[in-house]
Amino acid sequence: PLTSNDLIEEHRICVCVRARPLNKKELTMKELDVITIPSKDVVMVHEPKQKVDLTRYLENQTFRFDYTFDESSTNEMVYRFTAQPLVETIFERGMATCFAYGQTGSGKTHTMGGDFSGKNQDCSKGIYALSARDVFLMIKKPNYKKLDLQIFATFFEIYSGKVFDLLNRKTKLRVLEDGKQQVQVVGLHEREVKCTEEVLKLIEIGNSCRTSGQTSANAHSSRSHAVFQIILRRRGKMHGKFSLIDLAGNERGADTSSADRQTRLEGAEINKSLLALKECIRALGRNKPHTPFRASKLTQVLRDSFIGENSRTCMIATISPGMASCENTLNTLRYANRVK
Ligand code: ADP
Ligand code: MG
Repeated sequence: PLTSNDLIEEHRICVCVRARPLNKKELTMKELDVITIPSKDVVMVHEPKQKVDLTRYLENQTFRFDYTFDESSTNEMVYRFTAQPLVETIFERGMATCFAYGQTGSGKTHTMGGDFSGKNQDCSKGIYALSARDVFLMIKKPNYKKLDLQIFATFFEIYSGKVFDLLNRKTKLRVLEDGKQQVQVVGLHEREVKCTEEVLKLIEIGNSCRTSGQTSANAHSSRSHAVFQIILRRRGKMHGKFSLIDLAGNERGADTSSADRQTRLEGAEINKSLLALKECIRALGRNKPHTPFRASKLTQVLRDSFIGENSRTCMIATISPGMASCENTLNTLRYANRVK
């Protein structure tokens, strides 16, 4: 298993994979597990039934990432290797982003928004909350305390290329780019927060706002990107920003042949934004001068996180272990592989 010795220091882009366990329904339906995580940075997709022979890597689909987390991993553990190393970045005047990418039902919201394994979703055990907790710890350190920073939070959703404020009854917001190429979400509620509990309240409000008023809650959230941000300000000026994103289900990008026009358009939009995201992260990793952030609303609102000397990002690709998800899982792993 992963230990703190395995933590890779100082890389700009970290890409990892997390497999969830088979759920009750899959177990009753005798769904077969096609995923094996034989070591801390390898994931294999293989034929079911066939016993995996680890010496025959090549005959299976094998991928290597910075870290791989198997079904026994906890949110806390995933957090330690992904978002936690980025917390310091925002205190050092940097921009950090952490994405959960994967098929609907693979565990993105569980990872980011909070653990569903109890009766209700426990948002204190998601990466949003764990990051906030550490921001409040870090701000007390003497070095940072003297900066007199203030902490703010925002929570919004991007649905079909439009921005909605999850902390303000889903008000639709406009995105403007000024002459200096600064991108602004006009009127976005930025709440000042003084402790982790206040952040938890906001996460709860946003989570419930995200799913309310929909005939099928999951159908809606699977088609939208949720963006939770922790912003540090010093004398009103932005000091650093941490954006944590629960992306739309990547299988929705294939909805472009659906009979329903609306679904088709939404699918095309999701596809576009996930492709743009991949290109922006690749540009960041390769220090390319041109970041194609204008290609989608998602990348546009994250513009300042993709440029600049001190920007770091991390992607958690979540996968479902069942054979029925095999194609989607391979698509997820190939995408994540390209981001590296
Ligand atoms: P997504 O947001 O990717 O659509 P969810 O986070 O809603 O997926 O997860 C789908 C279901 O799987 C939820 O019921 C959740 O409780 C469960 N689940 C996801 N990841 C895990 C995990 N790592 N451990 C246990 N259950 C999980
Ligand atoms: Mg979700």
